Formats: sequence, structure tokens, C-alpha cells
Amino acid sequence: MALAAGVLFGAAQTAPAVEKGTLRLHYVQKPIGYERYELARNADGYRLASDFDFTDRGGRVQLTATLGTTADFTPTFLQAKGKSYRFVNVDSEVRVEGTAAVVRDGRVESHVALTPPFFLVDGYAPFAAQMLMLRYWKQHGQPRVIHTVPGMPANDVIVEPRGREAVRAGGKTVTLDRYLVDGVVWGRETLWLDQDGSLAAAITRAGGLSFEAVREDLEPLLVSFVERSTRDRIADLEAITRSNKPLRSGAYAMVGGTIVDGTGRPAIADGVVVVRDGRIADVGPRADVVIPPDVARVPLDGKTVVPGLWDMHTHVTQIEWAPVYLAAGVTTVRDMGNENEFIAPLRDAIESGRALGPRLLLAGLVDGGGPNAFGVVYATTADEAKQVVAKYHGLGFQQIKIYSLVTPPMVEAICAEAHRLGMTVTGHVPNGMTIEQAAAAGMDHIAHLAIGGEADSDEVKQTIAFLREHKTVIDPTQSWNELLGHALGTPIAAFQPGVARIPPPLNRLFSSAGADGIDAATARTRLERGLRIVKALHDAGVPIVAGTDEGIPGHSLHREIELYVEAGLTPMQALQAATIVSARAMKLDAELGTIERGKRADMVVLNANPLDRIRNIRTVRWTIRDGRVYDAPALWKSVRFQE
Ligand SMILES: [Zn+2]
Repeated sequence: MALAAGVLFGAAQTAPAVEKGTLRLHYVQKPIGYERYELARNADGYRLASDFDFTDRGGRVQLTATLGTTADFTPTFLQAKGKSYRFVNVDSEVRVEGTAAVVRDGRVESHVALTPPFFLVDGYAPFAAQMLMLRYWKQHGQPRVIHTVPGMPANDVIVEPRGREAVRAGGKTVTLDRYLVDGVVWGRETLWLDQDGSLAAAITRAGGLSFEAVREDLEPLLVSFVERSTRDRIADLEAITRSNKPLRSGAYAMVGGTIVDGTGRPAIADGVVVVRDGRIADVGPRADVVIPPDVARVPLDGKTVVPGLWDMHTHVTQIEWAPVYLAAGVTTVRDMGNENEFIAPLRDAIESGRALGPRLLLAGLVDGGGPNAFGVVYATTADEAKQVVAKYHGLGFQQIKIYSLVTPPMVEAICAEAHRLGMTVTGHVPNGMTIEQAAAAGMDHIAHLAIGGEADSDEVKQTIAFLREHKTVIDPTQSWNELLGHALGTPIAAFQPGVARIPPPLNRLFSSAGADGIDAATARTRLERGLRIVKALHDAGVPIVAGTDEGIPGHSLHREIELYVEAGLTPMQALQAATIVSARAMKLDAELGTIERGKRADMVVLNANPLDRIRNIRTVRWTIRDGRVYDAPALWKSVRFQE
């Protein structure tokens, strides 16, 4: 930063730019655009102007923002207009007036009391605003917490210095300071500043997937920034793990609860589950189970035990998902596309027991080539198809996830190679293919509900018969459709009570999610069309597996299960979609998916029985993963959710 110290500019004059920066933006490591910013000095302090602009899968996302601060970086105003992600519209203006901030959101104006230290920042974009927030932080005694506006109503952002490192790029060495910033988005970001206080790199998430900003000259270091950030984040999850030790592990007997074993058999009233060394040693009615004298007894009166839940469509792009999933009763997830440098080390940390979290099953994402492709792994030739599958196989992935631009011959090549190596294939129905063609080309699973028309039409009936014949597994992500497709005028809380418990950055994000220009009845009609197809698929014997595509973390899986009951499945069938049917789809049903003797002890203890009312699936008290008992409310709190 080259500041002409002592030079004052008249307020009416246009101040010359004193600092300019260009950051290369990446989505899941793919370069997709730029943020260009200018920081000008004026009589009052600084004025930042940022132009944030990227194109993701053919869709343009642009945000222009200006931020004013005093000379010590205390913010005075923020204006942001445009989009910060494909479905996140931003139109906000914040003015600091004395001890309050006047926040205008679209046409709604509100006043928020400000308690120093505070800063104005609205999500991860623009990154230059986060850079100025860190300068403010340095100038104000490096407080652990900064209150940020706009929030709900204000938000606490945690800043922690994480160390200094020298990096080499383009033949020169640059010294960078690394910071953890937690609360601008939900969860931890990593930011690097150079010795002038300019932003060198940032790792965050947008739309639930990894998003990276890297200064142009440091572009070759993108992957090493991702790896460095991953090490910090996994260390943080290990710290969360140390402060949330299992309430129990080893050998114990849970006595007196209702056991819904998930096999489809009636619930066992006054049952006993004996756990030993991570497995279910015995289960049954109290009268039939001999409790060994050496094991501790855990009374479960009034509670209900169900098998550990599965989320079959997620993207665990941040460590905060690990506690969230366990808190929500989810013990196994299938990751549907991520960065290998993050997800493989996270999986290994969880499997080794160093970190708590659900069992991670991985589907490796591959797209066709071209400017609109997603991510950085492509298959455009038969050789590439083989190499991609071999790479994911070598990293211990279970599946391949086909993305929308893979061509039909490549779908066949990928499926053939994956099957040869004992893997299965899931993914989107690629553009230009029907769901039947995708299944016929070898795709074992299909993500999302790619079936148009009405469930009772001949066409849809034929499609369903075809899928049944091909034993195709469907993860219909209906909670995701509902979340993005609900009428903007309908509050999310009307169908998703979990929204009341999410941290402020997520609240702000989801407050603008929904379909514009439709009424609640239209949204419901669209949702119900999908639910009728889910029911028809289920009735025909097509396996339905519960998946969320993230949504409202943890809570969306509960909603997905509730929606299956709204579709007409019984509560038991809906529960099975999120347990044994998912386990079978991943060929892990010999080990997982039900509460039966010899299986792994993955279970959820609920305060109320979901067979009575499916929404009781939300009443998670303890989650048991491989016999280790975790306290759900404590886990929610560990990642800033309300319990
Ligand atoms: Zn997805």
C-alpha cells in the first residue's frame, strides 16, 4: 500500500486511487472471474469501490459495492447491489449514524444498534471489504469478536491470526499473514494479507461449495492455499472433537426405550440395545436380552432409538458440517462433489477418530469440457474418462458423479470403467439425455428428480417401469426444491422450523432464497407434482434415498424425510429411505442401516417417536456413531447453531 501520507483531498474532489487490486475468483478451483477494487483516500478516510464479476456454468454473477471508512478504517457506509451467487440477490445499503446503523434491504429499512468494535460486511463478497475489516481489526487492538452489520440484527465475526508464511511465486518471495475469519459466512474462512495489508488470497464458500480468491501474481499457489486452509480447518475440527468428548463409548446397554430397528418390523416397546466395541452386541425386548453384568446401563425411558440417518446428497465443503450432521442424527453422508484436497483429508481425520463426524462416502465429480463446465475434473475422451475414474478410485472414492455436460459416449465410458473397478455411478442426467438414456448408459443412481410430467401419465409410468427394471436409485432432493421453489412471500419457517436455529450468516443468505413472482399455491402445486412422482417411484419399487443437496444444514434432511410422508410414504418407509435403503444403495447394508445384532452401532436417540409423527425425527437427543455417544445440543452450539 503506497499512501501519500499527509496529503488531504477536498471532499468535493475526486480522490485519486491510492491502491488497486485484482483478485482471480475460482469456484471449486475453476477460474471463473475477477474482483477488481480501488481504495481511494479522501478527506474523511477511505472509499473502497469493488467490482465483483464471475460466470458460473454460463450464468453471470455481478456485484458492485462501495464501502466508506474513516482514517482508522471505522466504517461509515456500505452499498452493495447485484448478486453474490447465482440465487443470492443483494440490494443493501448501510449508513452508520452515531451509535446505530440504518440498514436498507431492498425497500425495507431498519435500525440496528452498534456496539464497537463493528464493521460493515455483507457476506463473503466483495473480498476487499473483508480486507478492510482486517485492517480495522488491526487498528482496534485485534479484538477476538467484531460485530458486523447487516446481520440478524447484528452478527459476531471471530478473527484469529493463524501465522506467517513465506511463499514463492514468479521468482519472488512474498511474506503473508494468515487469518481465520468465522462468521462472515457460516463457518471458517481463511484470508491471507501481505505485509502492506493487501489481500493475497481468501478461501470461503458460495452456494455451499468452495470459492477461492487469489491475487493474480499468486495464482500458481491456488492449490497450496487450499491445502494450507484445509490443515487449519481440520485442526479446528480436532479441537471441537476434544471439547465434545463422547458421553459414552466402549460397552453399555441402553435400557427401556422404544426401539425402531428400521427393518420394517414393529417397534419394540421397553427394549434394550447392548453396544460393545462400536457394534450392536444385542437388541430386543427387555425380557429377551441378557444384559452382561459388566456393562453400564443407560436408562432410555420415554425415548425412541432409530438407526443413524443418511444424507445421500451433500457437499461437505467445511468442517462445520461434521458436528452439524451428528447433531441432526446423521451418521453417514454421501458427498456429491468437492475438492479432493479438502474432502479426502477430512474423511481420513474422521475415520482415524481424530475428528468427530459422520462416515463420509465420496462421489467424485466429473464434467464434460468447455467454458460452461463445472469444477476442474473433465472427461472429454475415453482416455480421460479412464484416468478420472482411476484417480478417484485411487483416492478411495466409492462413486463417480457425472455432471451435466458429460456427453453420452463419455457417460458410457465412465460407467464401464467405474463398474470394472467396483465403483458405482451417480449424478445429473446430462444435458441432451433422458433419464432412461442415462440409466441405460450405466448410471446406477440419478441425482434430483429428473422426471417431467404427471405421475399418472403413461409416459411417466413407462419411465418408472424402465428405472425399476434397471434397478436405478433416485435421490430426489425434494427439500431442496421446496427451499428454492417456495414463494418468496412465504417465510421458510412455515415449512422448515429449523431455520429459526441457524446462525445469522445463513439466515441472511436464505432470507432472499425462493421463487419470485409466484404465490404459495403455485409453489405448492409444483412441489406436489414432484411428491406424486416420488410416491409412484417408491410404489413401483424404485429405491428412493434421502438427500438434501445441503439446504438448511442438518434440518433439511429432516424435512426431506417429512416430505416423503407428505408424498404418501409411511413414516417407517420414509425413515428407511434415510437409513437401510440408502445403505443398500451403497452396498453397505450388511454393516449399516438398521439396528440389528452385529451391525455397527450407528443410532439416534430421539425424545419422541417419529412413527407417531414424522416431525419427531427432529427431536435428536444423542447421536451414536460406531458406539460413541454424542450430545446433540452441544454439537449444534459448537458451530454456532442454536440447539
Ligand atoms: Zn449437489
